[in-house]
Amino acid sequence: MIGITSYGAYIPRLRLNRMAIVQAMGWFAPAIMTVAQGERSMCNWDEDSITMAVSAARDCLRGHDKQRLDAVYLASTTLPFADRQNAGILAAALNLNEQLACADFTASQKTATTALITALEQVAGGARRDVLVTATDRRETKTAYFYEMWFGDGAAALTVGDTDVIAEFKGSYSLSRDFVDHYRGAQNKYDYVWEERWNRDEGYGKILPEAIQGLLDKQGLSIDDIDRLAYPCFFKADHRKIAKRLGAKPEALIDNLHEVCGECGAAHSFLLLIRALEEAKPGEKIVVAGYGQGANALLFEVTENISRLAPRNGLAGSLANKKTIDNYAKWLKFRELINVEMGIRAEAPTQTATTVLYRKNKMILGLVGGKCRECGTPQFPKSDICVNPACGAHHSQDDYEFADQPARVKTFTGDMLAVSVDPPAIYGMVQFDGGGRMMADFTDCELADIRVGLPVTMEFKRKVVDKERGFVNYFWKAVPVPGALEEMNRIRFDGRVAIITGAGAGLGRTYALELARRGAAVVVNDLGGARDGTGAGSSSPADTVVEEIRAAGGQAVANYDNVATVDGGANIVKTAVDAFGRVDIVINNAGILRDKSFVKMTPENWNAVLAVHLNGAYHVTRPAFEVMKAQGYGRIVMTTSAAGLYGNFGQANYSAAKMALVGLMNTLKLEGQKYDIKVNTIAPLAASRLTEDVMPPEIFEKMRPEFVAPMVLYLASERCTRSGEIYNAGMGYYNRAAILTGPGVKLGHADQPPTAEDVWNRWEEINDLAGAKALADANAALMDLMTEKKPAAKAAADDTKAEAGPDGAEVAAIFDKMPQAFQPDKAAGVDAVFQYLIDGPGGGEWTVAVKDQQCTVEKGKAAKATCTLKINAADFVRMISGELPAMQAFTSGKLQISGDVMKSQLIGKLFRI
Ligand code: NAD
Repeated sequence: MIGITSYGAYIPRLRLNRMAIVQAMGWFAPAIMTVAQGERSMCNWDEDSITMAVSAARDCLRGHDKQRLDAVYLASTTLPFADRQNAGILAAALNLNEQLACADFTASQKTATTALITALEQVAGGARRDVLVTATDRRETKTAYFYEMWFGDGAAALTVGDTDVIAEFKGSYSLSRDFVDHYRGAQNKYDYVWEERWNRDEGYGKILPEAIQGLLDKQGLSIDDIDRLAYPCFFKADHRKIAKRLGAKPEALIDNLHEVCGECGAAHSFLLLIRALEEAKPGEKIVVAGYGQGANALLFEVTENISRLAPRNGLAGSLANKKTIDNYAKWLKFRELINVEMGIRAEAPTQTATTVLYRKNKMILGLVGGKCRECGTPQFPKSDICVNPACGAHHSQDDYEFADQPARVKTFTGDMLAVSVDPPAIYGMVQFDGGGRMMADFTDCELADIRVGLPVTMEFKRKVVDKERGFVNYFWKAVPVPGALEEMNRIRFDGRVAIITGAGAGLGRTYALELARRGAAVVVNDLGGARDGTGAGSSSPADTVVEEIRAAGGQAVANYDNVATVDGGANIVKTAVDAFGRVDIVINNAGILRDKSFVKMTPENWNAVLAVHLNGAYHVTRPAFEVMKAQGYGRIVMTTSAAGLYGNFGQANYSAAKMALVGLMNTLKLEGQKYDIKVNTIAPLAASRLTEDVMPPEIFEKMRPEFVAPMVLYLASERCTRSGEIYNAGMGYYNRAAILTGPGVKLGHADQPPTAEDVWNRWEEINDLAGAKALADANAALMDLMTEKKPAAKAAADDTKAEAGPDGAEVAAIFDKMPQAFQPDKAAGVDAVFQYLIDGPGGGEWTVAVKDQQCTVEKGKAAKATCTLKINAADFVRMISGELPAMQAFTSGKLQISGDVMKSQLIGKLFRI
């Protein structure tokens, strides 16, 4: 059996929104609006037909022994070289065996199917056994033209052979007719296109049905036998009409991909065939046709092997990995449809020494380095002496392919000064997981998306285009693995140990399951008593949750202690340390209810509720805090309640206990600050046995604990940089609750206290919360009391700002920490004064001076600053917490630097905050 043995596709990540073309050029060519649906694929500035072909071929060769290939055919009408074998560049990039027949197929849109028939017939005749047929096109058009809308860029590859065939070749039918719907003269950049009506009616409308019918007749089949029908035609309505004319089932027709990428020239028939193969089941018959000065039609039957194909991007994966752009000017620049001044630096010589290219061909085009036979160290480039200092062997390197090795970003920079078509130029060190590293350009990414440790793949791209000599220089660049950034940003708890009290049911159970699912080892504590805390207790709720976690592959141990006792709390922490060696997270969640109106509230009910909620949190948190202090990390979540924050009839005991936990948090946030222990409080709203009789049944349904858990997980994570805050969460609503202090008034004098009448007279102003602030601690409250009071009108004007910015203490705390964060060993020879002007609420002026490897931080302005950094307080806090990269803050204008800008770059090195 001969046929297709594998497939691969490549659609560039960039997609141009067609409406962006209309918005820019619709004034000139309003008719293009009629075809402005969806988006067209567009090459990045460093992509062309060859680079796309390499990507598609690599996708196709996944799980395929590439050294078996004995021929490589490249089909395209937009090959970069008119006289240098383009297929040879492809073969070199794939680092294929040199005993290979290479050929370029070109000069017609149907050329890919011609190459495919050639390969199939050669394998059938025994002349070849394994042929790679790649089709690719990046067609140029003038601006504001229908063809700019219709066309897309893309590539596809197929292997043809006689083993592991996924689609058996049944036969072909070819029609050659010199029908000129469009042509491109040898000296011209753009196609010349004849009238569309002629092309539709006389071209597509007649030639394609004739070729497909010819194939069916030759095979003795009727159109009803065909399960999938794939042929190009960018006129959407006519595309459907052709199938109708043939009598095909509408569901058999493969969509022409107009909305998702557009017509990709010579590659399009292959892309449509791949779409058919991605959806096909064994036994299905597929007809694929190529069109252009006639047509080729081929028949395939899908085999069982299709399900055994190694995973690949294919067309579906390639289409899914996209970035849509609306910036039409970018398209014009990338396509060289506008003449942009690139600056003097761009005039640097770009000539390629073909001698060097030949001698280093494997290294440059194939990304082949060396691996030491003596010590196994991979290195790029290959050299005569092993780089491993412990080895240093001579002439010990075997060829080692780096192109398919998984790699990660080790260092990176965004360079606004380097010449780049799409600034900033992003480059840095790439570390291969299996060993070896290299400096590389990064492409198909934005600076804000790059992180140290981000997984990347190496991709074959254009390095430099030498326009003067018509030469394209290719090399490999690093491209972030699709989805890797999202994966890195995922909140995980691997290696973290969490204690959750009362985790046998309700909210606690949900927190435990979710923390374990995200990698935490969990202590599931639950006494297993009744709702009011009575009953002897039972191990079953905690055990059930532990079993659930373990069944899902997580780590957990059960604990049945009573949080209301000192020993119980100590034993819960001991359980965590014994089982997992540390405690990173404590969620004080255990709770009971004993509701009574106040007069009926017996001491027993009062004490029982305080014992579980308030004392329970103390009993567990105190020994855990000791462990957290010692390890320099901790996240604690208290559980308060709306009853405590705002009051609830009949819950005097519960309200008092719940609000007391806020007080406990307020002090622990201060005591934990130095040790990276963050303490926050959740006020949940969820369906559980505690609320089943309080809430109406219809609301109860919407109150799943899963809507509270995300907030608690965030507060329990490393990402959480806030401490001492209260958050309401439930039913999909999340907000912060805070204790605010109004600006108030000052009454009386030092020697004469005011009277009660004075208070009464100023009652409205005393009550006014306009301009109210959340204060960081008792000292801040005292300071606030003593500061001069603003007139009421000004306070009101500042009100919204005060809410938007960080509290004053946050920015000040960062500067307080700076001397500890100073790295004297990095400051040798540095003599600089950094002036910070922090705008907005919570802001101010600070001076940081570094001299003689010492650092001083002072509030206020410097007499003479080396450089001045101006930034809004909220952005400053985000920048220091790592949420806003400094480079991004600078390039977006949020951070303004004046004076010696270069010196400001030392800050990141001098301080580790
Ligand atoms: P729940 O009754 O379903 O869960 C509480 C768990 O704590 C129970 O499994 C119970 O056995 C356990 N527990 C009780 N006393 C204990 C003790 N002494 N030692 C160890 N475990 C003990 O209730 P829930 O609604 O999931 O409540 C969880 C927390 O959230 C409680 O602190 C509650 O006050 C608070 N809260 C809940 C809501 C809500 O809407 N559900 C609202 C505000 C506050």
